[in-house]
Amino acid sequence: MPTRRAFLKLAAAAAAGACLDLAAEEKPEPKKDPAMPDAPKTGLLFDKRCKQHETGEDHPECPERLDAVHAALKKAGLLEKLAPVEAREATDAELEAVHAQAYLATAKKDIAAGRRQLNTGDTQVSGTSWTAACLAAGGLLNAVDAVAQGTLRNAFCAVRPPGHHASAARGMGFCILNNVALAARYAQRKHKLAKVAIADWDVHHGNGTQDIFYEDETVLFFSTHQSPWYPGTGAANETGAGKGLGATINCPFAAGAGRKEILGAFADKFAPAVAKFKPDLLLLSAGFDSRAGDPLGKFTLADEDFAALTKLLLSLAQDHAAGRLISVLEGGYNLNGLGPAAAAHVTELVTASSGA
Ligand SMILES: [Zn+2]
Repeated sequence: MPTRRAFLKLAAAAAAGACLDLAAEEKPEPKKDPAMPDAPKTGLLFDKRCKQHETGEDHPECPERLDAVHAALKKAGLLEKLAPVEAREATDAELEAVHAQAYLATAKKDIAAGRRQLNTGDTQVSGTSWTAACLAAGGLLNAVDAVAQGTLRNAFCAVRPPGHHASAARGMGFCILNNVALAARYAQRKHKLAKVAIADWDVHHGNGTQDIFYEDETVLFFSTHQSPWYPGTGAANETGAGKGLGATINCPFAAGAGRKEILGAFADKFAPAVAKFKPDLLLLSAGFDSRAGDPLGKFTLADEDFAALTKLLLSLAQDHAAGRLISVLEGGYNLNGLGPAAAAHVTELVTASSGA
């Protein structure tokens, strides 16, 4: 309640046609700490429980991948600049926005029964894989909430298992749930971000993501990937169907491709497509197996190339989607390369969100 004196002052000001802020009158503004810049900033989703998805000895998609990312972010001095994003388990309803109920039931059953591999494809699992997968997906949805509400500018989600090979009805390629697709649908339904653009720079084609949105004109899917290579999809003539015709863009490149080809494709193909599509949100399937030296790919991107790609995405997000960009980890299997590549990527996200 305003004091009588403040009330009288307000009445006098109102009478004089002026505007007086009572709160400012009674409670001085707290002093800003220059070391703590105002939100929004960059979020980081990192939850150790995602390491509990165990894939067996010598499997490239191993829990240590998350340690490698975390250690590199720490070494680069990025951890203290990042706002933590909490993980949570995605609900059945959220999962069913993308995945068929029958597939979710069978995957859950396979895992509960102690199978070592999903019966739908080449995804190794352990008893805690379902929980880890739901935490990864749900955490990403929390990142969507924060970016959509403006409490975060952008975010990097260091999660596993990865997601972009999982289609509506099939887990495969180390993936159980399609994290990036779940994020796109959630953003559309919960936050009315009607149009979502997904870029995928993983060395492998994001066949699951493509499949989910192939006939959907509200999601633009763009992928650079090695070809011929696993999983065998992603030809340049796969461009969508029905209402989604033209909203899928594939840029396959031969082994050995690097900065020139991939940055070139993002600049020459993705940028104009985004300008035309006018998304409300940009999502990135950030697979760092397109880095030189990855055991599961033969592309030659360097850490500074991931920085350049990130800058380009940030500028597209800024121009078309109010800066909203959320990146989710996909592949990246050279433990010595994954960390520095992710750190180069996150450095650019932080630079953009801090206004530096
Ligand atoms: Zn990959």
